[in-house]
Amino acid sequence: MSKIRHYLKSFLFLELLQGLSVTGKYFFKKKFTIQYPEQKTPLSPRFRGLHALRRYPNGEERCIACKLCEVVCPALAITIESEEREDGTRRTTRYDIDLFKCIYCGFCEEACPVDSIVETDIFEYHFENRGENIMTKEKLLEIGDKYEAQIAANRAADAPYR
Ligand code: SF4
Ligand code: SF4
Repeated sequence: MSKIRHYLKSFLFLELLQGLSVTGKYFFKKKFTIQYPEQKTPLSPRFRGLHALRRYPNGEERCIACKLCEVVCPALAITIESEEREDGTRRTTRYDIDLFKCIYCGFCEEACPVDSIVETDIFEYHFENRGENIMTKEKLLEIGDKYEAQIAANRAADAPYR
């Protein structure tokens, strides 16, 4: 009996018609898809994308080499080396983030006492050569310098919810 039912279903294209009825039901409804990359969906100011190191308005780097971010990182993606400067302050001599290890959890920016390491809303990036996954201090500061206005605006928008 089940064989006959199966045969009839196939012969009458019932499953195909069922599928087409679902398609038809959504054909004139509001579309949820967008034409990426020409169109983009809005991003939360809390979005966790590419990392950056920030500076103070006077140009001084914020990072005080406390290594809290390195300790809290669950993926062991951050490597920091530091030394004392002539003026007695401590600064990093090496600050690397391995983006292949990073899981974009945001713990590093939550742990930072001086708002130095942050995750920007940049998510469109790629690597072409071996080693480019290591974000060095220079690269992180460069991103911070370039996108400081955007980073500051996102943090201000998110501040009431922290
Ligand atoms: S986002 Fe998370 S995994 Fe990535 S570097 Fe920061 S703490 Fe580590
Ligand atoms: S980025 Fe922040 S948490 Fe990490 S070492 Fe520098 S000051 Fe400390």
